[in-house]
Amino acid sequence: MNFSQYYSVDVVNGPGTRATLFVSGCIHQCRGCYNQSTWSPDSGELFTREHQDQIIADLNDPRIKRRGLSLTGGDPLYPGNLEAVLQLVTRVKAECPGKDIWMWSGYLLSELSERQQEVVDYVDVLVDGKFEQSNADPRLEWRGSSNQIIHYFKFV
Ligand code: SF4
Repeated sequence: MNFSQYYSVDVVNGPGTRATLFVSGCIHQCRGCYNQSTWSPDSGELFTREHQDQIIADLNDPRIKRRGLSLTGGDPLYPGNLEAVLQLVTRVKAECPGKDIWMWSGYLLSELSERQQEVVDYVDVLVDGKFEQSNADPRLEWRGSSNQIIHYFKFV
């Protein structure tokens, strides 16, 4: 998997202070997408074990208390990303007690493959669905268009 950006401290993508990873790779081609540069799975740079370790260390850093990890992109559930994202979310849940995971994906929860669902099982909150320009509303919190649904799987 490649990624396009990592913000070790982020207060925009999800509630509270967070770490946010923008992965590369997305097939949805939503009109009006702000992150077109991430569509190609080859864009950005390779997500390595060192990047994974850095995220775990940042989430456990007592100097800047982060509420959790946000995974966006691109699409974290792009088929080519599933192995790396599964490894990451598994580690976050095992090594970063009390930290939540938010994920944004263009896939609908009801459409997920078994492998995608396996990843989502580790996620606390999933914001699903493509960005639809006709339903875009800047007043919405944590989503760009009203068709997207925020699924709270766990109390966060
Ligand atoms: S799912 Fe997200 S990254 Fe992919 S095209 Fe749509 S808005 Fe862009």
